[in-house]
Amino acid sequence: MPGRRKFLQTSLFGGIAVLLRKNISPLTEVEQPFTKGNPIVISTWNTGLEANKAAWKILVANGRALDAVEEGVKVTETSLNCCVGLGANPDRDGFVTLDASIMDESFNCGSVAFLERIMHPISVARRVMEKTPHVMLVGSGAQQFAIAEGFPIEEQKLSPDAHKNYEQWLKTSEYKPVINIENLQKTHGPSTPTGQSGEFNHDTIGMLAMDANGNLSGSCTTSGMGFKMRGRVGDSPIIGAGLFVDNSVGACVATGQGEDIIRISGSHTVVELMRHGLSPQEACKKAIERIVKIKKAKAKEIQVAFIALNNKGQVGAFAIHKEFDYAVHTNTEEKLIKSPSWF
Ligand code: ASP
Repeated sequence: MPGRRKFLQTSLFGGIAVLLRKNISPLTEVEQPFTKGNPIVISTWNTGLEANKAAWKILVANGRALDAVEEGVKVTETSLNCCVGLGANPDRDGFVTLDASIMDESFNCGSVAFLERIMHPISVARRVMEKTPHVMLVGSGAQQFAIAEGFPIEEQKLSPDAHKNYEQWLKTSEYKPVINIENLQKTHGPSTPTGQSGEFNHDTIGMLAMDANGNLSGSCTTSGMGFKMRGRVGDSPIIGAGLFVDNSVGACVATGQGEDIIRISGSHTVVELMRHGLSPQEACKKAIERIVKIKKAKAKEIQVAFIALNNKGQVGAFAIHKEFDYAVHTNTEEKLIKSPSWF
């Protein structure tokens, strides 16, 4: 329980700072009076703050959660100096390959993996869901489908940041797929095992929303692990691993080392735990505990985080390591919450 108490304090103090600025009264995680009719959107990392704003415009106008989670993460996909989309770090052969998934309130879902030269993989994932009898398209087939659907094919070119990171990585070409251990990256900057630098060292945005009708949807989009093996696909486009939504229970999205999220069907596991009565935060913690037990001492070397939203509009998160945060936007507040963590 100390972890939970600490989390409540952290989120409360963080919240107060924003709320003082916004002149509205503070709420804690457990007291959020979200019921059906009150929309909410949450998303991973600090890049979620901007993404949530775009999603909120749709939610506040009585739009569908599905539209909100698509438009929200498109903001991050477009920001070419960031961590997601075509501006992100390439694979070890120097190509940016993208994965994305989307899921609505009726178990409709779509995803793309190993997609190249398309700006908005999340929208292609939605087309897969709406326009094909399939759930997942990959590689050149996904690209062919995107082009047929009118998505422009972009130039094959690394962003300046990604170029710099790749040059740096090439010096050792060390293949150590370690993701998002924030403390390490803050200390070591671009020479960390992932070679990622600066503030934007996360490769994924995951977003969950509940609209005014009480319907849930989720989205997840990523360039995957920086300097991954060519052809490597993570958890993000795999329904049940990177993302899962069951409108009668709740929704979950993951970030971090995809292989270990896939191993336990992470997001589906969190939703099932909520079905059995756990709060979003307790469910995320239990799933993280499962990974930590499987990985044993190696858990110290990886980061995984889950965020979850139940159908009452309550939110929660849990990560293996410190420094994971997630952005929340409701009728009354917009804030970044520091997630509790195992270590
Ligand atoms: N989960 C993503 C992957 O493994 C990476 C991330 O979240 O940073 O592809």
